[in-house]
Formats: sequence, C-alpha cells, structure tokens
Amino acid sequence: MTRVASALAATLLLALSLAPTVGAGGGDPATGVFGEPTATATFGESIRVEQSAGLEIAPVRAEAVVRAEGSNRTFLAEIPPPGPGESTLTYTYPTPPGSLYPNTRVELGFRLTFEDGRIVETPTTTIRYEDDRFEWRTIEGPLVRVHWAQGDDGFGRRALDIGGRAVEEATTLLGVEETRPIDFFVYGDRDAFFDVLGPAIQENVGGVALAEIRTMFANIEPSQVNDPWVGIVIPHELTHLVFDTATRNPYHEPPHWLNEGLADYLAQGYNGGARRAVENAARSGAIMPLRALVGRFPTTPDRFSLAYDESVSAIDFLIRTYGQDALVGLIRSYADGVSDDIAFEDALGVNVAGFEAAWLADLGIEEPPAYGPRPAPPGPLPPGWTAAVQPTPRPGSSSPPLASPRPSGPGDDLAEPVLIGAIAVIAVVLAVGLFVVARGLSRGDPLFGPSALTAEEEPDAALGAEPDAEPDAELSRDGPAGDAAANPDDVR
Ligand SMILES: [Zn+2]
Repeated sequence: MTRVASALAATLLLALSLAPTVGAGGGDPATGVFGEPTATATFGESIRVEQSAGLEIAPVRAEAVVRAEGSNRTFLAEIPPPGPGESTLTYTYPTPPGSLYPNTRVELGFRLTFEDGRIVETPTTTIRYEDDRFEWRTIEGPLVRVHWAQGDDGFGRRALDIGGRAVEEATTLLGVEETRPIDFFVYGDRDAFFDVLGPAIQENVGGVALAEIRTMFANIEPSQVNDPWVGIVIPHELTHLVFDTATRNPYHEPPHWLNEGLADYLAQGYNGGARRAVENAARSGAIMPLRALVGRFPTTPDRFSLAYDESVSAIDFLIRTYGQDALVGLIRSYADGVSDDIAFEDALGVNVAGFEAAWLADLGIEEPPAYGPRPAPPGPLPPGWTAAVQPTPRPGSSSPPLASPRPSGPGDDLAEPVLIGAIAVIAVVLAVGLFVVARGLSRGDPLFGPSALTAEEEPDAALGAEPDAEPDAELSRDGPAGDAAANPDDVR
C-alpha cells in the first residue's frame, strides 16, 4: 500500500471509530431488535445468511458483512434497506469454485446505517464452509487430521503416518511448536479437487497448503496410495505450514524460493532429476536468478519446474556452505519482520546478492543475463489504422515474448525513443512554465508568491494521489478469500 493509501485507510478507520455505533450482539432498543442469524452453505455455489429484524425506523443503508477466516478484509455488499417493523434481512454470498476454500470459517451479519449517522451492526453467525459433496471419513493424529472420501482405512492411515512424520520433522528442524491441528483433505477425484482450487490454478498442481486456515488439499487417487509421489506431496505441503509458523510476521514475507526450496529439500532432497535440470540450465544459460523467484514462480511448464529445482539447489548449497544451523537461523529470523538482506547478513554473513553470486559460482556460472520487459509484438489493427513505428530489432536482441526470451544489451533499442520523449517533455514543461510566469507577471503576481505556489501544488498532489492509491486498493479488493487464494502452493 502506498503512503497515500495508508493515510486514507487510517483516516477511514478513524472516521469509523468516531462514528456512533452499536456493537454486534446487542441491537439498540431505540432502533430495533434482531434475531439470531442463520447461515446455510452449498459448496461451489453460495452461503446464504438470514436474520429477523424489528426496526423502529427504517435505515437509509443496509449492507451484508462477510469476513472469512485468514483474511484481514471485510467484504460488504449493499442490500435493499428494510422498512420499519418486522422484516427479514437476507444475503446470498456467492462462492464459485476457487473463491473460498472449504474448511474456512466465515462470519456473516448485517450493518445498518440510519439517517442520523448511527451505524448498527447486527449479531453475527459463523459457519464452516465445507465441501459437502462427499461423505468424509476422518482419522486424527496428535497434530494432523486426515479427511478422505475414497479408499479404505489403510489409505487414510498411510496419509496420516506420512503427514504426522512430516510435521514432526519440520517442527524439529525449525525449532517451532505446532499446537493447533492441521486439516488435510485428500481428494481421490481430480475434477473434484480442481473444483476446490478454481479455474485460475495450474493444471499440474497436486497439492495446496493454506497456512491461513491451517488446511491442506491434495489430489491422491486410492490406487496411488503406495506411489512414491504420495510420500513427497504430503511432506512438501505440510512443510509449508510449519514454515509459515516459523516465519509469520505482518511485515515481510520470506522469498518464495526459500519456502519451496525447504519444502522440496525435506520432502525429497536435492535429487538427481532436479540436479540435472539445474546443471543443464546453468550450461545453456537458462538459469533464473534467485531474485526472479522471490514471488510467484513463472507459469510456463519448463520454467515452473526449473524454479523448484533451482530453489532446492540453493537450499542444498546453503546447507553445504553455511551449515544447517545457518539455514534454520535464516528462516527463523523472518519472524522478526526483517528485510532479506538483514536476514541473510545476520545468518550467513553475506547479503542476498552475495549469496546468489556464491550459489551461481558453485554452479560454475556468472550472473545470468536479464530478461524483459520487452516491447509487445505488433498485433492486428482495425481497418484504416496505422501501426506506430516499432523500434527495429537488432539481430539477436529480440524474440517473441515468452517463447524464447533472450537478453538485451545495455544500449537497448528503447534508448532513442526514450531520449526523444524526454526532450519533448522538457520542452512542454518549459513552454508551460514560461506561459504561467508571463501570465502571472501580466497580472502583477510576484514571481514566487505563496499564493501562486499553493494554487499550483495542491491540485497536483491530489491528482498524484489518486492513481497511486487506486490500483493498490483494486488489487487487494478480491473478496474475503483473497489472502488464501493469493498464496496457493503447488507441487509438480
Ligand atoms: Zn510448495
């Protein structure tokens, strides 16, 4: 969030705290009384909440309020305001596939605003949103609860054994204690599993760990119960949950490669396949720098897979070079909300760039060439339109986006248009400045008078704030499940 957006949010919070409100659970005798709300859910469709109200006066505004566990956002939906007297408040919160994960607790209620500014929050109800398409069986260990619908008891037992061991190993390694149970839902049916994840997920995902709701989902068919893959996907995903416990802080997330690398390392080590892939990439110049793997991994299958392999390679190098205790110290330090450089310097004695250079040197290569951003290829034009002149690509310096991106040199083709653009902007600014000064002088204004400065600056500041604040707000305004949905982890 930008500073401006933060300031706006703080102002909004202050305004809300100053607004006269009546807390949930009460009702205001002068305004009305409310019955206990009820909620019913249908998986993949919606959650419906209903509440009776007896109002002395009609509100001017009514909203349904939805808060999902693990999200710090409140979802508001305006509904038609009820009239005075007895009425029933209802709202249907849509939950299409992927919008809300099963096993999420959802709190629902209503907020009424009256003409005199009073805001009344009605008593709320909480429902656990469940995948009710199956008859789940459950087996429970000290920390992990396995839920499965297809396969025999042995299937659930094996999943529980693997899961229990994985949590124990990860908590012992990282020195953290898990106290709240972790739910692990095993889907035998692939389509049903992807209904849970929604349409935006990659099709090669086999498991997802959601630390916010301490829940893991995996797609394991009963016939696969003895596959080696099962012994990998379960520890991999559960390690993510322990990693989250070890690093959770409100300021700064550890790099994604550190999280995935540890999960892969504990689940299967730096195995032959990953080692070959990384060494081949190093030889062919295809290695991605670790700083390219800080957030979401690339989505093309080869790069997606290489991102995991590089992550586990970096963990292997870190342990070989600095020791396991250094790795644990590094991961644990993130709980203090430190920056990447401080975390790396304190634990390893080198900053992130230094660690990356050492890892690359261990692979026998230097800094890999940078990719993108690159100009888009010319697209189709409506009849009668003319394409803007594209910079002429130098031989070998340009290629179709995503297909086989290659590096650009420092004297990139963009330099010339950028220079021309900069000169044009400076010319316009000078012309406008001369005009303003000339007009001011002709009115008799002093050249640097305070009134002139204020008049010029204020609209600029306001204009500058808007575009900055809006995209941030838009990006995060994706419903109560946004946090969980933003962080699905995946296994090849
Ligand atoms: Zn993962």
